[in-house]
Amino acid sequence: MASCSSGKKMYASEAIAEDVLIEAWTRYDYAPNHGPIAIYLCEDCGAYHLTSKGVMNEKLAQYIKEGKISRQKEADRWLNRLKKK
Ligand SMILES: [Zn+2]
Repeated sequence: MASCSSGKKMYASEAIAEDVLIEAWTRYDYAPNHGPIAIYLCEDCGAYHLTSKGVMNEKLAQYIKEGKISRQKEADRWLNRLKKK
């Protein structure tokens, strides 16, 4: 199936969707109560989607709590700086 009636991006597995979710958080600065916080298995297409509703994904919550998101952001900034040279 190429697309879902929800119009959301489809991810083949929970692990992939989770990776995308965490990466999104390291890449963008989400305002409180904005941005995707969880993944779910879609009943329409059978793939996983990100959602801004519901309970925050455990891994994401843990990453935020441990400061891994902001550390990753800092690392990315340095990488980008190095790439520009
Ligand atoms: Zn779907």
